[in-house]
Amino acid sequence: MSTPPTFASSFLAGGPTHYARASNPTWVDLETALADLEGGGEAVIFGSGMGAISAAAGIAPLGGKVVAPPVAYAGTLGLLQLWDREGRISLATGEMADPADLVWVELPTNPTLEIVDLAAAAAAAHAVGALAIVDATFATPLGIRALDHGADVVVHSVTKYLSGHSDLLLGAAITRSPELATRLRVTRTLGGAIPGPMEAWLALRGLRTFPLRFERACANAAILAARLAEHPAISRVRHLSLPTDPGHELAARQLDMFGAIISIEFVEGLAAAEELCSRVTLWRHVTSLGGVESNLERRRRWSDESLDTPADLVRLSVGIEDVQDLWADLERALAGS
Ligand SMILES: *Cc1c(COP(=O)(O)O)cnc(C)c1O
Repeated sequence: MSTPPTFASSFLAGGPTHYARASNPTWVDLETALADLEGGGEAVIFGSGMGAISAAAGIAPLGGKVVAPPVAYAGTLGLLQLWDREGRISLATGEMADPADLVWVELPTNPTLEIVDLAAAAAAAHAVGALAIVDATFATPLGIRALDHGADVVVHSVTKYLSGHSDLLLGAAITRSPELATRLRVTRTLGGAIPGPMEAWLALRGLRTFPLRFERACANAAILAARLAEHPAISRVRHLSLPTDPGHELAARQLDMFGAIISIEFVEGLAAAEELCSRVTLWRHVTSLGGVESNLERRRRWSDESLDTPADLVRLSVGIEDVQDLWADLERALAGS
C-alpha cells in the first residue's frame, strides 16, 4: 500500500539502483505516478520547480534563441534573463522569433492568467525547428495533458497543487522523447541538485488527494471569481471560468478545469491592494500557491516581478476551505474592517 521512503546513499552492486544521486526507489514511485498523470512518458523529478525549469530550459543550445512570454513566473524569467546577459542564450520575449531553438510557454501565466492555444504554439515552434516546453503548474495535468497538445516537455512545480500542503519543494519535467528524458536525467545526476527521498515520499502522499483538492479549489475559485467580479471595490478580475474573461473561450476548449488562481485589481489601486492583504485573517498573506489553505499576495511587492504586472494586482490562491468562510473574510477585508 504505502511504500516507505528509502533513506540510503548507496545500494548493493548488481541491482537497478547504485547511488542515490542517480536514482532512488522513492523517486521512481513518484516519477511513475507523474508520468501516468501526463498520459505517458518519462518523468524526471528535481529538488524544486526551478530545478526542473533550469534543466528543461538548459536543453537550449549554447547561443540558442529562446522565446518566452513577457510576463511569466518571475524565477523563470529571471533565469532566462541571467543566461541572456551571460551570453548563454539569446532571449526574445513576446512575439515568436523566427527562427528559434526553444519556445517557453506558461499555461496560464503566473500571475496574469494569460493563455495561449498550446497546440498552435507547439506547431509554430516545431515549424521553425524549436522545442516547445510548457510550465503547466497552474493548469496541472488535470487541467491539461500538455504532451497530448504537442509539448515536447512539460514541467511542474510539484511544490504547488501536486503535493498540495505547502510543506516541501519539488519539481518535475515529463517528456515522451527518450533522448530528452536522458538529457534531463544526466543534468540532474551531474548537476547534483537532487530531491530528498522524504520530499518525494510526501509529494507522493499529497498526490493521492490531488484530484479531490484541485476539484474543490477550482469550484471555490469559480464562485469567488463571480462574486469578486460584482464587487464595487474591484476594477478587474481574471479567472478563466468567467465568461467575460479574455481567455475564457480558449480555456473552455482547451482545459478540462479552469484552475484555482484568481487575480484582481482595485478601483482605489495600490493602497487598496495592500489594505486587503493586511486585513484578511482566514486568507494568509504569503507567497506561493497551490496548498490546501487559501492565500493571497500582491506580486509587485517583489522587486523581480515583471513591470508588466500591474502594481495593484493581487494573486489569490484559492484553497479547499468552506467557500462561505473565504468569501466572508474577503468581503469584510474589502469593506475596510
Ligand atoms: C512556483 C512556480 C515555479 C517555481 O517552483 P519552485 O518549486 O518554487 O521552484 C515555477 N513556475 C510556476 C508557474 C510557479 O508558480
